[in-house]
Amino acid sequence: MSAHENANKMIIFLGDGLGDRPVAELDGKTPLEAQVTPNLDYIAAHGLCGMLNPVSPGRRVGSDTAHMALLGYDPMSLYKGRGPFEAKGVGLDVRPGDVAFRCNFSTVEGRRLVDRRAGRIKEGTAELAQAINEKAGLIDGVECIFKQSVEHRAALVLRGEGLDHRITEMDPHYENVDYPDCAPLPEAADNPGAQHTAAIVNKWVELAHEALDSHPVNATRREAGLLPANIALPRGVGTAVELEPFKQRYGLNGAIIVEVDIVKGLGYYLDMTVVDVAGATGGYDTDELAVARACIEALKDHDFALVNIKAPDLGGHDGDAVKKMGTIAKVDNAVGYLLEHLDFDHTVMMVSGDHCTPVSLMDHSGDAIPAAFYGCNVRPDDVTAFGERSCMHGGLGNFVGFDIMNLLTNFSGTQEKFGA
Ligand code: ZN
Ligand code: ZN
Repeated sequence: MSAHENANKMIIFLGDGLGDRPVAELDGKTPLEAQVTPNLDYIAAHGLCGMLNPVSPGRRVGSDTAHMALLGYDPMSLYKGRGPFEAKGVGLDVRPGDVAFRCNFSTVEGRRLVDRRAGRIKEGTAELAQAINEKAGLIDGVECIFKQSVEHRAALVLRGEGLDHRITEMDPHYENVDYPDCAPLPEAADNPGAQHTAAIVNKWVELAHEALDSHPVNATRREAGLLPANIALPRGVGTAVELEPFKQRYGLNGAIIVEVDIVKGLGYYLDMTVVDVAGATGGYDTDELAVARACIEALKDHDFALVNIKAPDLGGHDGDAVKKMGTIAKVDNAVGYLLEHLDFDHTVMMVSGDHCTPVSLMDHSGDAIPAAFYGCNVRPDDVTAFGERSCMHGGLGNFVGFDIMNLLTNFSGTQEKFGA
């Protein structure tokens, strides 16, 4: 139990990639404007609205850098690649100075990449990982720690002296091409650390390939007509940095309820409680009420919860405005459940997204995201609907991710005064 056990609670509630741009198919409305969202509109009508820029206006961000910024950790100085979050997310220990990667089990013939996901292998990856660690666990004095996640996904951590993450990736992202060697990036071509790290990675991939190609799991797969998982290719490299634990920074017990592994990894990194929710699939079919219930449950013994429903981002990446509208209905439904079951005289919530994923772009944009604060001590403005155009008229105007924790702790009354 925290010092703020009886104090007001705080929620950041996000639809991943929630914001959008006008869509011709929707008569120039955004999916958020086109979808009926009574609960989001209620929050906008009774709350304080604005436009959120995760890092700064116009800056395009990933989910990892966005969530860092939203929690008050400056990704511009603290982010050194996604690998460490991926590795934390699959349960590997990551220490400052480690170089970490996400990996795919893949299928190769010679150097030609046949299937990036090894036929979406589901079983036997723990045995394969063990074989890799036995054969390639220590290379040139560098510890190489590999762990499987779900299906073809995995992560790798390198631990040793003088490592440098400024190296190329080995997953070409396309099939039927040769996978490349790992090499220092052009800007680090003469850097001994990058050269050393690239050499370790090349050796590791070679040894892992040897361990996997002859492995009984793959013999069985071949017999069954399945593609062998006979290589693991690292990508998304990053160096682990020191991040101040969330509790130390804010004096708050924080929980994180998200469907994206990399953001779970950030939660582990910040020493927050990472809540797994049965039914939270991360897909279009996710059980949004299970997520809302998990939030309510978490707030019983935490001061703060960050919640993210992934599905709107999928609609954006798929370029499907109608599907995205459906995911927004789910976000609205979950918010409605919170409105019904939480006491907002003693709770303050921000509803927004981590970035925009416009269906017209099918990727993340640097557009500002509509946002609304609702609950205890929030001074309402005149906005009456939750949407891209309406929230531009909100009382907060344009604000940045770094402001969120200040706003929430101000409303909840848990912020220390700065100055005399
Ligand atoms: Zn995202
Ligand atoms: Zn995305």
